Amino acid sequence: MPDPVTSLYIHVPFCAQKCVYCAFYSEASSGELINRYTAALVRELEIVAADLKPKTIFCGGGTPSLLNLRQWESILRAMEKLNLLGAEEFTVECNPTTVSADKAKLFRDFGINRISMGVQSLDEKLLDRLGRIHSREMVFKSFDILRRAGFDNVNLDLMFAIPTQTMEIWRTTLNEAMAMQSEHLSSYEVIYEDDTPLFEQLKAGEFSVDEELACEMFEELIARATTGGFHQYEIANFARNQSLNSQLSTFRAAPANTT
Ligand code: SF4
Repeated sequence: MPDPVTSLYIHVPFCAQKCVYCAFYSEASSGELINRYTAALVRELEIVAADLKPKTIFCGGGTPSLLNLRQWESILRAMEKLNLLGAEEFTVECNPTTVSADKAKLFRDFGINRISMGVQSLDEKLLDRLGRIHSREMVFKSFDILRRAGFDNVNLDLMFAIPTQTMEIWRTTLNEAMAMQSEHLSSYEVIYEDDTPLFEQLKAGEFSVDEELACEMFEELIARATTGGFHQYEIANFARNQSLNSQLSTFRAAPANTT
């Protein structure tokens, strides 16, 4: 009999709206389709539960936090019944618009102990440029809700080399992100993926890519994160608790910079 699977990745393929750079599979959707997905996910978990003994669970997307309380509760109750809870690390990706105190409490009650929040930028104009649905204020508010609910392991996702982003804007975003004192930081240069609106804009000559500035922004990220108390344990990943993250990251099977 093969060893049980210890790393579980659950993909939630829905978003409130598509961001212009995103090539991860997700559809702008709500309501009935998500109900059907939830029921199908529970059925699939029932089928494979005997082969699973999750040490880490990563629920990514898409936007897992888009699921409402009832949908989340049915998934988590099913996992409880199937003995799939109790992972050392259980992460859910959240978009700042879809974090609420009730959802955060439900997550905590069922052993979700890590949140990865898609921030990408703290500059209003850039958030708009990227097609993000949240404001900078929503980022701070959601982070506060998570802290109040007891989450002491939060990742923030940031992007750099966004078209029209200057070094000054990047420094301001980094400073504000550092001040939030998250436990983990993931940060990636914008990738121009085929079939995304941002790639089409680039192809149409609406802007050009400044690789030199992108490199300088990456260096700034490393310098700022390091002085801010983070250890860079992978190219794009920074953690305060280096040993725990190096150990658990091998069990994370998560896409980057979503939600
Ligand atoms: S970046 Fe996140 S919120 Fe935006 S479309 Fe991709 S998965 Fe959805």
